Amino acid sequence: MEKKGKVLMKKYEMGRLLGQGNFAKVYYARNIVTGQSVAIKVIDKEKVLKIGMIDQTKREISTMSLVKHPNILELYEVMASKTKIYLVMEYAKGGELFKKVFKRRLREGVARKYFQQLICAVDFCHSRGVYHRDLKLENLLLDEHGALKVSDFGLSALAESKHQDGLLHTSCGTPGYVAPEVINRKGYDGAKADVWSCGVVLYVLLAGCLPFNDSNLMAMYKKISTADYKVPHWFPPEVTKLLSRIFNPNPKERISIARIMATPWYRKGFNPKPFERKPETEPAPRNINAVFGSEAIYNAFEAKNLTNLNAFDLISLSSGLDLSGLFAENNKKKKEIQFTSLHTASAITSKLEDIAKRLKLKVKRKDGGLLKMEGSNTGRKGALAIDAEIFEFTPSFHLVEIRKSSGDTLEFRNKLQQDVKPALKDIVWAWQGTQPQSS
Ligand code: AMP
Repeated sequence: MEKKGKVLMKKYEMGRLLGQGNFAKVYYARNIVTGQSVAIKVIDKEKVLKIGMIDQTKREISTMSLVKHPNILELYEVMASKTKIYLVMEYAKGGELFKKVFKRRLREGVARKYFQQLICAVDFCHSRGVYHRDLKLENLLLDEHGALKVSDFGLSALAESKHQDGLLHTSCGTPGYVAPEVINRKGYDGAKADVWSCGVVLYVLLAGCLPFNDSNLMAMYKKISTADYKVPHWFPPEVTKLLSRIFNPNPKERISIARIMATPWYRKGFNPKPFERKPETEPAPRNINAVFGSEAIYNAFEAKNLTNLNAFDLISLSSGLDLSGLFAENNKKKKEIQFTSLHTASAITSKLEDIAKRLKLKVKRKDGGLLKMEGSNTGRKGALAIDAEIFEFTPSFHLVEIRKSSGDTLEFRNKLQQDVKPALKDIVWAWQGTQPQSS
């Protein structure tokens, strides 16, 4: 609980509680220098660590800083104390759109206005390689002028975390809003899954209830899989037609965002405000463009005129904090090293396989960029086993973590210092965090 009136980091005066998520509370706050209203999401580090949500939290933070758009809730700044992480965000004074619909269903023109803004935000996210994956009414907030703000990127995934087949493989989202292929866990195209959820939002705005609903979850999934829904008689025929193209269980045949935007119903009264993009003063350094196609980061890079940034610097520059330090554990106990690389996953994999061969470790390739390396010599604490995991940001930019999975820690550290790290030299772009010591 943050005390009302408390001044956070000498900058923000904390106000009332706005809402509560799973492991975070959101407070109103005011910047005491500029007077600007903000919302501060306070995340309990301990809770995040305990339930293994580090990756999701980092992803939420990094994704928010990748997408800056008038209809996407902006992340201004990230701060951290010993026990908490503070995400300073744009304040959505109008609250949840959900509350409006809860009172009464919306008129066609009003629903269309929100749908247009939602589609613009989603289209922008997709152009940045970001899929929301948890679009629902509860994640749509309003600012003081009634403009839509998409929030909660907790579940969004970067396009680059797609598998080799180009499809996302985590089953997530909220039951009533998820596309059939997400439920089937067969891997899915994030863009088409978001289209489905946008369709559900449009339906809810106009009908005041969910299109696919049942008290029995299995029955509900069945309705979703077969696109079994009914359209209320007051739905305009153009909306009914549009929804039938959105609620196509086959994602390949489902309408795309571009085609939705081209429909006469969508275009009616469509008047998006051109949004401000920061002027490009000079061309971005080539490697930065190659690393991230992100304007936000590129602009932050230019504004600060910095060089020698690592991946987390890049991700967090626009939010002002090095994410790699957010969850710093006791370095002495650290049993892993991390580095970023500008090489492809297959180049990194073959390099790691070479090293394993030299160290006489047997290599097994697992799903999701995981390599398991195992020794046969029984050391003091059993055979040494090392895992290397490759996380993809873009096809030519990866974060690699090498950690001990079993065996003697001292033996592992010695191998890291004497063999592994020197051998990785030519593929490492930047080492992350403090490196474990060999003694
Ligand atoms: P979340 O943890 O992001 O789901 O947020 C929980 C609740 O806090 C939301 O449902 C909103 O009611 C409220 N909230 C979150 N972010 C903001 C914001 N930026 N401005 C106003 N209210 C917010």
